[in-house]
Amino acid sequence: MKVDMIMVRFGEYTIKGRNRGHFEKRIVEQVRRMLRPFVALQITRAFGRIYITLNGESYELISAKLKHIFGIMSFSPVRKCASELETIRETALEVMAALPRKPSTFKVTMRRVDKSFPHDSQEMNHLVGGHVLRAMPDLKVNVKQPEVELRIEIQPEGTYVFSEVVPAAGGFPYGTNGKAVLLLSGGIDSPVAGYLAMRKGLELEAIHFHSFPFTSEQAKQKVITLAQMLAEMNGVPFKLHMVSFTEIQTSFTQCNQDHLIITLMRRAMLRIAERLAERSGAIGIVTGDSLGQVASQTLPSMNVIGRTVELPLLRPLITTDKNDIIRMAEQIGTYETSILPFEDCCTLFIPKSPSTNPNLNVVRKVESFVPRLDEMIEEAIAQTETLVITPGESPETAKAGKDDWF
Ligand code: ATP
Ligand code: MG
Repeated sequence: MKVDMIMVRFGEYTIKGRNRGHFEKRIVEQVRRMLRPFVALQITRAFGRIYITLNGESYELISAKLKHIFGIMSFSPVRKCASELETIRETALEVMAALPRKPSTFKVTMRRVDKSFPHDSQEMNHLVGGHVLRAMPDLKVNVKQPEVELRIEIQPEGTYVFSEVVPAAGGFPYGTNGKAVLLLSGGIDSPVAGYLAMRKGLELEAIHFHSFPFTSEQAKQKVITLAQMLAEMNGVPFKLHMVSFTEIQTSFTQCNQDHLIITLMRRAMLRIAERLAERSGAIGIVTGDSLGQVASQTLPSMNVIGRTVELPLLRPLITTDKNDIIRMAEQIGTYETSILPFEDCCTLFIPKSPSTNPNLNVVRKVESFVPRLDEMIEEAIAQTETLVITPGESPETAKAGKDDWF
């Protein structure tokens, strides 16, 4: 079928009373941003929807982009015609004739939004359905389980005829649910957690802890590549804060409390993340934790680790099984990069038996014996290097950013 137009439906936020207009404005901005290369397009917002007039641009290329825009629930390639019975009947036939496979059953679903149209929905179902049946004698009506649903919407500005509904990313437009920091390791989980958080409308800045020179330049590049992928999802510049963790991590290895090293490291990471979050105006910390996955992700561990900060800890993957996380990582395209075998700071000095049930008082006591811990944390924050990743540019060109607070 020659597609004239795409009708875009918004996500769940349209049913919430709050700030609907604001959400809709943001989603239109986002659609314009992601479709900027297609210069001939006309994008308009009307009655809680977006209509994209193709003007000859490729439906395939545009639909591939639309599927991944956060806040879009679904879209349909549509034919638009005049709200006039004969024209609607002809357009309905064209849409049916253009289906990739000939169906044996169908039904008509009519929405008459323009009440000045002379026939009501019931009548229109018969008038259009009868016309299609006469032209396609093998076709039958099946109201309960039709193979094809021929949808017709009679709107004040014209009538839309379509059958296909393509699901899209869903969620909220980027940045409409506030700002958080993402703890981005080089692993499989945290990029997926970042994707899910952004899909829910959180604006993110990423924080990565490295133990250079124990961790390699390649490990750093890998994280930059992952951050680049997250940046591409929204088409806006994305900040990646690189924190040197070498000194802190090394000091923990000297406590003679090997089973607590990971607990101590996670607590120090969170303390630094909270401070960086405050400076960026972020009010949440997103991690890729998944319950029971490793020793630091048992409930007793997460309890002791989380007690060191006050910001809410958001864990989108908390109940997700590893297999499902891997599937999501494959779908969003981060998996191949995540499994590159470069050492992360957490895979260095891994203790033989990390505690799954640390004691908060003991952990606090051990911390109090670490020389200069508070100063080291201050230094790590002060020496943080911020990269600003620009979508569409190669990761190697990521520059140390001019950050407001540096
Ligand atoms: P995987 O289990 O596939 O390695 P992961 O790295 O996400 O994924 P963990 O190493 O168990 O899993 O870490 C748990 C969470 O802690 C991560 O999801 C991430 O949010 C945070 N984290 C761990 N290491 C780092 C790091 N070096 N920099 C930033 N965040 C980290
Ligand atoms: Mg990891």
